[in-house]
Parts: sequence; structure tokens; C-alpha cells
Amino acid sequence: MQVPILNLTAQHAEIKAELDAAIARITSSGAFVGGEEVLGFERELAAYLGADHVVGVANGTDALELALQAADVGPGDTVVTTPFTFAGTVEAIVRAGARPRYVDIKADDFTLDPDLLAAAFADGPIKAVIPVHLYGYAAEMERIGAIAHAHDAVVIEDAAQAHGATDTIAGKRHRVGTLGDLACFSFYPTKNLGAFGDAGAVVTSNRALADRVRLLANHGDAGKYEHVIANGRNSRLDALQAAVLRIKLRRLDAWNAGRRRAAAGYAEQMCDLPLLLPHERRGTEAVYHQFVVRVAERDYLRRELAQRGVGTALHYPKALHQQQGFRALHSSALTYPVAEQCAAEVLSLPMSPHLGADAVDYVARAVGDVLTHRAATQLAQR
Ligand SMILES: *Cc1c(COP(=O)(O)O)cnc(C)c1O
Repeated sequence: MQVPILNLTAQHAEIKAELDAAIARITSSGAFVGGEEVLGFERELAAYLGADHVVGVANGTDALELALQAADVGPGDTVVTTPFTFAGTVEAIVRAGARPRYVDIKADDFTLDPDLLAAAFADGPIKAVIPVHLYGYAAEMERIGAIAHAHDAVVIEDAAQAHGATDTIAGKRHRVGTLGDLACFSFYPTKNLGAFGDAGAVVTSNRALADRVRLLANHGDAGKYEHVIANGRNSRLDALQAAVLRIKLRRLDAWNAGRRRAAAGYAEQMCDLPLLLPHERRGTEAVYHQFVVRVAERDYLRRELAQRGVGTALHYPKALHQQQGFRALHSSALTYPVAEQCAAEVLSLPMSPHLGADAVDYVARAVGDVLTHRAATQLAQR
């Protein structure tokens, strides 16, 4: 059996007729950037999330940069995020002219540790905090927001991996993307909600911030070539991507349920194995952008799984402060032991919205075989 890390064939087969119709509709409409499809998607995503404003932009990294700029973050400012995220999170901080500062993650769900965030504020002013809902796990937004707002810092969610994930606050379920002052999504094709190219969005319930993002993302044009700011740019969402996203958004909950079913199957079948399974914080529902286990002999397991036809990936093999490009941006006096250990131990197993029970069984059995065989060999060698 071959089980790739991600397989979207079934997803696209399911919506082929609707995709073809949408492309035909756009061809005859002549509206290729912005227009009805984009406005429709923005409205539908806002309704799905329970947010007031959605601004479609060109990609998730732009969404983060535009959100920072809209919140008036720039040169001289410090922005906190975790050292264990995709590079785009930190690139956006750097491109906005601010300085990144890392706060380590929690070992159980890979999200920003609120206890350490409180300590970071004691060390100097922080203008914004970007918690990342990594792999689809909701960060502790309630605690993070309380700490940040007590210091007048804005909170920008990086929800690029968590479309549809929820947290329960005061007895009510909320979708991530509505829990910060602003939130950013990427619709890169491999994300839980993925376009057929690059796309992103900024979400907020603050009208003034939404207007500012729109202005920045469209050449500072307030309408009819009335350019009211000089630092605008082109970061727009095109109609084709919006049309694909509208079709997929209607199925997002069902597809996330498929991911959660596969994750539950993995957890059930691997609970006795010598590896660390991921952990969902109480009250949250993760959407398993990735299913990530931690194991000391990660590279060995990865090689052996490849031999058995099981695709895996490393998200991420290095923490950001360990990357050449970002090394100079952090104080070498600070360390991030949890992020470093995760970088050495994480392994992403196959995860797709239509991953079947047979594939889950096959992967779990393969992982079990490799780890028990390894343990037996080590015992024999003593
Ligand atoms: C994908 C991703 C981004 C960047 O999104 P792009 O659309 O690729 O620019 C940012 N942060 C995280 C956590 C991501 O996974």
C-alpha cells in the first residue's frame, strides 16, 4: 500500500462539476480580480467564522504583513511569536519593519505558552503578539489576549493552519480567526481550505482595521484612483481563487471531520507505542492540518516508513532561531528548549480529508512494526 502525506484527489473529484461551472462563469463575466466572486467569498467566510469583516488578499504572508501595518506596527516595534512556526510568520514581522521576539511553545500542543508570554512583557515593550494555531490546534487565545491587552499590545492570530478549529470560551464555541484583534489565513493549496494557487485573507471585527487592510492591499486607492496613502501595494485576491474557495468552504466542516476521524483512528491504534501523541486542549476541536507525533528516533522511523510506502514530512526540522536567515534576529542569550526538542522529534504522518480507515490502519501498523522491531533489536544488542 502507498499512503502519501497528503492526497487531495478525492476532494477535487467530489467538486469537479462545480469547479468547471465556476471557471466558465468567470470566463464569461470578465471580472478576474475582485468583483462578485471575491465579495461573495469574503461574505461567506465571515459568516462561517462568525466575524464581521474579511478582506481577501494575495497570500497568507501578505495577510500577516498587512495586519501588522494596519495595526500600526513598524520600525522600532517588537512583535512576539513562537520560534516553531512556518517562516512566513516571522518574514511578515521583518517586512513590516519590526523586530521579532520569540516565546517558546507548550510541549503538548505546540502553541505559544501564555506563562512565558507574561514573562516576556516584563522584559520590554511589545507592540503585537502573533499566536500560531499550529497544525490546527487552537492557541490559548483567552489567556494570551488578557495578557497582551493588559499591556496594550494587539493580538494577531496566525490561523493559516486552522480553518474551522474551535475553542470554548465562557461556555460558547468560537472559531479561531475570531479570537484576536485581527486574524490571518492562508489558502495555499495544501491548507485545510486551499485554493488553486496562492490566496489569503485578513479577518477582523474592527471596521477601521478592515478598511485599512483593504486600502493597503489595493494601492491605497480609496476609489476611482484616489490614492490616499503612499505605502499601499498590490495584494489582491483573484476571482478564480475566490470561486474555488467558495465551493470548498461549503465542505470544509465535512472535510475537517474526515481529518478528525483519521486522527482519532491514529490515536486509538498508537496509544501503546513508544511515541508522544498530540494532545487537544480541553474545550478545543483541532482540525489536524497535520497529524504530528514525537519520537526520539524520528529519522530512523521516517526512513523505515518510506520503505513501507508511507509518506511523512518534517514540520519543521529546525526552529526559526536555528535557521541561518533568522539567526541574527534574536538574542543568543535566549533559548527555546521546547521548540528545539520538537524540531528534533516531530514527524508528520499522512493526513487528508478523505484518508480511509484502511490507510490509517496500515500507517499505524507500520509505525508499530518499526518501533517494536527497533526495540527488540536494541534489546538483543545489549
Ligand atoms: C502557510 C503559512 C503561512 C503563510 O502563508 P502563505 O499563503 O504561504 O504565504 C503563514 N503561517 C503559517 C503558520 C503557515 O502555515
